[in-house]
Amino acid sequence: MPGFELWSDKERKEVNDVLETGILMRYGFDGPRKGIWKSKELEEAICKRFGCEYAQLTSSGTAALTTAMSALGIGYGDEVICPAFTFVASFEAILSVGAVPVLVDIDETLTLSPEAVKKAITPKTKAVMPVHMCGSMADMDALIAICKDRNLYLLEDACQSIGGTYKGKHLGTIGDAGTFSFDFVKTMTCAEGGVVMMNDKALHEKCDGYTDHGHDHNGADRGADLHPFIGYNYRISELHAAVGLAQIIRVDEFLTIQKKNHGLLKNMLAQVTGVSFRHVPDPVGDSCSFVSWFLPTKEITSAVVKEMKAEGILPGNFYWYENNWHYISKWDHLKNATTLNALHPDLKSKVMEQANKNFVASDAIMSRCISTAISLLWTEEQIKEKGEKMVKVIQKVLKELPVAN
Ligand SMILES: *Cc1c(COP(=O)(O)O)cnc(C)c1O
Repeated sequence: MPGFELWSDKERKEVNDVLETGILMRYGFDGPRKGIWKSKELEEAICKRFGCEYAQLTSSGTAALTTAMSALGIGYGDEVICPAFTFVASFEAILSVGAVPVLVDIDETLTLSPEAVKKAITPKTKAVMPVHMCGSMADMDALIAICKDRNLYLLEDACQSIGGTYKGKHLGTIGDAGTFSFDFVKTMTCAEGGVVMMNDKALHEKCDGYTDHGHDHNGADRGADLHPFIGYNYRISELHAAVGLAQIIRVDEFLTIQKKNHGLLKNMLAQVTGVSFRHVPDPVGDSCSFVSWFLPTKEITSAVVKEMKAEGILPGNFYWYENNWHYISKWDHLKNATTLNALHPDLKSKVMEQANKNFVASDAIMSRCISTAISLLWTEEQIKEKGEKMVKVIQKVLKELPVAN
């Protein structure tokens, strides 16, 4: 999955360019920066590599989601539909603009079930946020149709699926806006960082100002800029952008290795009767950062996890169902709407109502799902050894716990 595994001279060179001038900020200082504009360059490279008209870098993927929603005008009184299986950033960002996160069930794509989305739409719904989890994608045709029909924004969280595509288009560039995260464990990293991608010029101007205290960036210098609206500071630094600039050139190299390693491991798991895989709406577009697989029952899955732990092969395998970060079952802070600063009482009660719904359909999927992170450093030998150990554990458990007919 992560680009940090292949740290190289290229990253060091890009960072060093910035260290030489000492201009660590992305705006201003036109003279002393000696023509070095890493953030601008990275934005251009993102547009070119992933196929969008505009890109706005941010300080994180979470900030990118917040920025996109603010720029789309999503806020007080609005509802945003997102999946019950996602990284906590999804609901954090929705709450940060004052909107209600409406969590809905996933299907075997491991993200939004289009049927569940339809049922959750109310007159307050403003946007649908599919989260392309673990390298692969949502059923985009169905979601696009729903958003068109109901006049809703489609905001793609592609933070975990950099380089993935759907019917030839890059994930994150299909909806009204889309985001990547460049945090340390993502397919390409800036150490910390993110981006909003879009094709609408006016939307981009809003993102640009919002991430830099509302500056319009039209003044002769920063002091002369106007502030057409209130913004915040979600800027990326030149040091972070420099890392990303080296990584984006290597992203094809990362994806090639990732796909190869994914294929080898998946083939081994596919030999086991009883193992099945997530539904991938466009298989050629899978970025392959994880292989996500299912076992027949929750009991079997839980026993396999236990056995993998005992055998020392659990690291890198994620049983999200019992993970504190990615699935509704463990988000007590959201269920109790525990915040440091007071939420508006209406928002608080709606957050609690949404988070305490039942998610039996998602439970039935997530309790049987394990995702194995694909490393870029594995040798073929290591994959074979890893796969054999996993297969052995799975077969042992399946023998001990036969599936009742
Ligand atoms: C990593 C991630 C984010 C947020 O990214 P940060 O850069 O860590 O803030 C958002 N959504 C998903 C699905 C992620 O995996």
